Amino acid sequence: MGEFELIRNYFAAAPCAQLGEGVALGIGDDCALLSVAAGEQLAISTDTLVAGVHFPDACDPFLLGQRALGVSASDLAAMGASPLAFTLALTLPEVSAAWLEAFARGLNEMAQGCSMRLIGGDTTRGPLSLTVTVFGSVPIGLAMTRSGAKPGDLLCVGGPLGDGAGALPLVLNQRSAEASTTQALLARYWSPQPQLELGMALRGKATSSLDISDGLLADCGHIATASGVGLRIERDKVPMSDALRAFFDADEALNAALSGGDDYRLAFTLPASCLAELVEAGWPVFVIGQVVDGRGVVLIDEQGRDVTPLTRGYQHFRETR
Ligand code: ADP
Ligand code: MG
Repeated sequence: MGEFELIRNYFAAAPCAQLGEGVALGIGDDCALLSVAAGEQLAISTDTLVAGVHFPDACDPFLLGQRALGVSASDLAAMGASPLAFTLALTLPEVSAAWLEAFARGLNEMAQGCSMRLIGGDTTRGPLSLTVTVFGSVPIGLAMTRSGAKPGDLLCVGGPLGDGAGALPLVLNQRSAEASTTQALLARYWSPQPQLELGMALRGKATSSLDISDGLLADCGHIATASGVGLRIERDKVPMSDALRAFFDADEALNAALSGGDDYRLAFTLPASCLAELVEAGWPVFVIGQVVDGRGVVLIDEQGRDVTPLTRGYQHFRETR
């Protein structure tokens, strides 16, 4: 199978690659063309997944397809952008029809779930890696950045944390558990559900936002730095799923929720006056702490004692200072 046949069969023909709102020209030309409504800005983010680093070499291609797009779309959710389209740069060690078919199905499933269209990409030979670039639109002035948190705001997250990190020993076949626990954790790892609707609902309300990919403490550190504020997280308010609590002992579960990566839930700051309306409307908003004067992220116990752990999250390159 040649490069163009591969693109045609598995990507251009996929339901998610057909034209739709906002996509004036899709796969097949030198560029795709996106139409952005007047008064809107384009939100763009790119993520690379490398075999052996971000996923095991021999993983299920269907799940990989889902995950590759899910983690990227999560960045659109963090900004409050409405999802539009994505491109896929795929590097493959060899062409396997079965692998491509399953991968494209997984990708398509996530794309349909997120209302995103595949508009182009690149296909090359080499060690397995995937780069997904996502495009969304957001009304001018309403994108939620990391830099607007104000002392007095509440610090919130969009759901239980730690399941992605909890799934890792299962993904790596290092541990086993009851079927219901295994299923719940693996589902969060392999098909992270980007909180796109929540992101859009927070427009004009949240003062800062990001999606948690490297662990709660590490990612909240980015909000603290960008906003020039401190964050106090109350340890006992950090939400965790029943599956995580069943799988791990209390310390391991807390550690996964605080420092494990792969959550893809939103963390955001909110003026207290915005809370009731969001909760009443049924949005998943879990208050875990406050924005304070100062800098950095501090974890406190029920007595208000500083219990901040030393290790905070995953980094590909360690800071040298
Ligand atoms: P060019 O050489 O002009 O960059 P390519 O030959 O790489 O174009 O790709 C041909 C068309 O197929 C382009 O529209 C490109 O965006 C698209 N494409 C290539 N690889 C993929 C892929 N993996 N998924 C989706 N579209 C792809
Ligand atoms: Mg090319």
